Amino acid sequence: MIVVIKPHTPREAIEEVMREVQRLGYEPRPIFGVEQTVIAAIGDERTHHTLESLRAMPQVENVMRVQKRFKLVSRESHEADSVVNVDGLLIGGENFTMMAGPCSVESEEQLLSTARAVKAAGATVLRGGAYKPRTSPYEFQGLGKEGLRLLQLAKKETGLKIITEVLSERDVEHVAAAADILQIGARNAQNFQLLIEAARSRKAILLKRGMSQRIEEWLLAAEYILSEGNPNVFLCERGIRTFETYTRNTLDLAAVAIAKKESHLPVIVDPSQGCGRADLVRMLCKGAVAMGADGLLIEVHPNPAEALSDGQQQVDFGGFEQLTKELRPLLAAVGKKA
Ligand code: PEP
Ligand code: MN
Repeated sequence: MIVVIKPHTPREAIEEVMREVQRLGYEPRPIFGVEQTVIAAIGDERTHHTLESLRAMPQVENVMRVQKRFKLVSRESHEADSVVNVDGLLIGGENFTMMAGPCSVESEEQLLSTARAVKAAGATVLRGGAYKPRTSPYEFQGLGKEGLRLLQLAKKETGLKIITEVLSERDVEHVAAAADILQIGARNAQNFQLLIEAARSRKAILLKRGMSQRIEEWLLAAEYILSEGNPNVFLCERGIRTFETYTRNTLDLAAVAIAKKESHLPVIVDPSQGCGRADLVRMLCKGAVAMGADGLLIEVHPNPAEALSDGQQQVDFGGFEQLTKELRPLLAAVGKKA
């Protein structure tokens, strides 16, 4: 860390800061300038006490970090792309993974017909919310345990892996028993107790970016899971809230490229929550591939007009088939195996 001392500070006051730096476990190396002095504090910022509290000393002007705050998720700690093995399905690296299915599990017929359609078009993971985080308590909240049962039925028939959202610590155990991948939603992106509990289930976890979460905060949330000893994490960009109203959220495709640079974890893009418009999903998928995404999470419904949640952004079977077809040459161009 770098501690900047205010101009014209007397020598003893500088030494007082150096003693404090030492007391907190760092080696102070002062650089005396004509007007101003800075102290380089040598030590690992991620394992030592932060020096930010030194700002409280009147002679300290600023304290700056040198190292990043995340460790296990960083590219520096693991240079190659992580490849996560979900019960035989490899996600990340040269693999491109299509996760698709309805926003919510609504009925056996709805889920099974969707599972068959997305599988035929090339998806390997079936999505479907059994527990739904709805803005209003009067909206459809999901089928709960019955939804999990239907997801398992679909898995049994099609062999697709299952991804479904876990909303609370209370549900981790039984959702993990039914799912291959736990989805942590945008509204829970910084629910650290839930992240820890989900990590302990040992299941792979898809971590959505929070609606107003900075990339650093998103990576630190993933760090919670890895630091619990669970390295099987996917980062998922799903749009952030901005001033724009043409779209439900603003899909931050730059964040995909940044996450890939900063971290070794696979990055999945959810264009459905990302824009909230079925007519844009196809184009955003192409953008995601171009930005280096490792997979997509797409909402597909047999009849979006009748969906119990997010109808406006779900594509129908034909739309999904068309988009997977259009992605094939792009995936080949970026060297990804579909
Ligand atoms: C969803 O995938 O249906 C969902 C609710 O996602 P998010 O948490 O990104 O809003
Ligand atoms: Mn949805």
